[in-house]
Amino acid sequence: MRQDASPKNNVFSDFRKIRAGKNGRRRRILRQLEPWVFERFMAFWRNLSSPENVAKRDWSKRAGASHEALLHCYTSRTDTSAAILGGLADVTRPEPFRCPYCLMRQPKTWDHFLAKEDFPEFATLAPNLVRACSTCNHKKLRHWTDAPRRVINPYHDPIPTDALLWCDVTVSQQNRLKLTYYIFRDPQVPDATLDLFERHFEAFELQSDMKAEGATAASSFIKEIIALRNAPLSAEELDEKIVAKLTGFEEFPANSWEIATFEGLRDCNGLLDFVNALVTPYQEPPPRLKRSEIKAKLMPKS
Ligand SMILES: [Zn+2]
Repeated sequence: MRQDASPKNNVFSDFRKIRAGKNGRRRRILRQLEPWVFERFMAFWRNLSSPENVAKRDWSKRAGASHEALLHCYTSRTDTSAAILGGLADVTRPEPFRCPYCLMRQPKTWDHFLAKEDFPEFATLAPNLVRACSTCNHKKLRHWTDAPRRVINPYHDPIPTDALLWCDVTVSQQNRLKLTYYIFRDPQVPDATLDLFERHFEAFELQSDMKAEGATAASSFIKEIIALRNAPLSAEELDEKIVAKLTGFEEFPANSWEIATFEGLRDCNGLLDFVNALVTPYQEPPPRLKRSEIKAKLMPKS
């Protein structure tokens, strides 16, 4: 859900460097596979906007050793491959540093956009590697890129700069805030993009995760604005506080859940009453008695 710059690695020399770090039989296999691997890299490039169209090779027939050698380039890190991945992690590190699929959690794993089990030749191909959180990586597994594709490619899909993730906030009859996240069908955005966004949103089950995070953020925000308050807020005051909060998210990508949540709060009709019902009205303390009055209370005249 966020546009990232595609890595600018020289993937051909990367492959050769990684190959050079391998021993004996694997190195020989990789050398022999090299022309084919480079051809596959070109096929990857030709299908950047529709990676689901890159044909899979059938690895089942006597190709076990080739499959293993290609996968080994990724699974068994050499100093060179570790350095390449480390460099890649640095250049794909946008602030705030979050997983591009969910924009919620810290990305600590490498997701192979085209799964390494099916496409071992792309196991170390920089533009096929997406720094993602482990939850998204696990949810994505192997088949999310099958047509119709269900995962947005952060490097190659055109992601509109306007927010498509929206949140409706309502106050329920039980007087609770209800948050519903969805993809806004912006008429200026092509249907195919909106459909992909919707499939992505469902595939990663973002609704439930965002509801949980959003509810926590909304309630701590409300606690914060009513703390030490003893008079109700005006509509303008409440709006100013939400806008101030939104200003703090300026560097966040347009589709982050924080922005959607606080825009939703801003448009929520019953929010002012909901917040003000939580404000404890100021009460006059009982007047202090004068000494003579205390005395009179303790020693009533007989
Ligand atoms: Zn994620």
